[in-house]
Amino acid sequence: MTLHEITARLSAAGVDSPRFDALELIVHFEKISRAAALTGGNFENPDLDRAVQRRCEREPLAYILGQWDFMGHTFRLSPECLIPRSDTELLCSLLIRSLPAGGRFADLCTGSGCIAVSALLARVDAAGAAVELYPGTLTVAEENARLHGVQDRLALIYADIRTWEPEGTFDWIVSNPPYVTMEEMESISPEVSLEPARALTDGGDGLTFYRCIFDRYPKYLRDGGAIAVEIGWQQADAVCEIARAAGMEPTVLQDLEGRDRVVCARK
Ligand code: GLN
Repeated sequence: MTLHEITARLSAAGVDSPRFDALELIVHFEKISRAAALTGGNFENPDLDRAVQRRCEREPLAYILGQWDFMGHTFRLSPECLIPRSDTELLCSLLIRSLPAGGRFADLCTGSGCIAVSALLARVDAAGAAVELYPGTLTVAEENARLHGVQDRLALIYADIRTWEPEGTFDWIVSNPPYVTMEEMESISPEVSLEPARALTDGGDGLTFYRCIFDRYPKYLRDGGAIAVEIGWQQADAVCEIARAAGMEPTVLQDLEGRDRVVCARK
């Protein structure tokens, strides 16, 4: 198959960015550069054929490649992890620039571990704890911590954030929890429907995890510390209210498209 043929097949299957995906698949499975993939050729490779077929069935590109980039680093992924979104780089950048020198943070609902690992790569003075409820997902976070050499500074904790009792306190607590509402789940794309529903939605109004985080975690924050959470673009008011009810002072940050994306609340 040529680049052109793969692009046409993906396009016919309704894939959003068929040429980009075709190129990524060729680069990955042929182990060649993007420039070489672009200059053409007829690729005869059963692995590539199977990958194109999977993409035509709308399996997310990230799961087919088994990896995805976040904050300029490549993370291992499995279908048990939410795929890192570029939107989430806002929360991660905030943590990186705000954590005090030698600071300690917790990342609740860590998933692939992309936030915690990226923060530790950028802040060699810092240490963190990453909490995840699903063992298969935590295994991927562990793999990513080792892959990037931060395993000595990251405690990987298999726990439910509703009951976890941390030892000691943190300077910052961050989380990108499941916040998609039940109603919004009805209109997700075929690709997103193949991501773990438990990582996307709380099965209710989308606010369950924020209530839990602001109810339980302020007591584990040092004075002057902050809780920062990613939110859905329509959730800023509700999440700020939850933070205020916990006695904290929230501010809202917007993503590159100007949508509310993070609530950061100081103790
Ligand atoms: N931003 C993701 C989406 O809209 C949701 C991530 C999450 O629930 N934490 O698909």
